[in-house]
Amino acid sequence: MAVERTLSIIKPDATRRNLTGKINAKFEDGGLRIVAQKRLQLSKAQAEQFYGVHRERGFFNDLVSFMISGPVVVQVLEGENAILRNREIMGATNPANAAEGTIRKEFAESIEANSVHGSDAADTAAQEIAYFFSGTEIVG
Ligand code: ADP
Ligand code: MG
Repeated sequence: MAVERTLSIIKPDATRRNLTGKINAKFEDGGLRIVAQKRLQLSKAQAEQFYGVHRERGFFNDLVSFMISGPVVVQVLEGENAILRNREIMGATNPANAAEGTIRKEFAESIEANSVHGSDAADTAAQEIAYFFSGTEIVG
């Protein structure tokens, strides 16, 4: 295994319910280190670009509206096998299918308002980190 970095976003359903600390505790307890973090209000253009891979999906417009409905917390998580490890800590996209103890099982409201985003592969992690952070903002 290698030390990796992945992009995480705490979504508006979670910031609205003041869950940032509880979600961060899941990452830290799961062996990941928060090496960069900032709270942002995404613009519509930013959300559309970030989720551009899903542009043709039926849920795209609703997803963009949801992601700009309140503040988000964007983060870089670092650790052994961080990309896959974070996906495990998050749980399945649909909270109905998420395992016990995962963030989405405990906190998600729906398949859309599912509390967290996490990069899905090394190439997307690198792109997504660069989308939100400059090198000097990440302190490992
Ligand atoms: P993940 O976030 O687990 O990587 P996807 O990349 O497939 O999942 O989808 C991106 C986001 O789009 C999901 O986290 C969720 O917020 C939303 N989404 C995915 N599938 C649906 C769906 N069927 N209906 C509504 N929203 C969805
Ligand atoms: Mg995804």
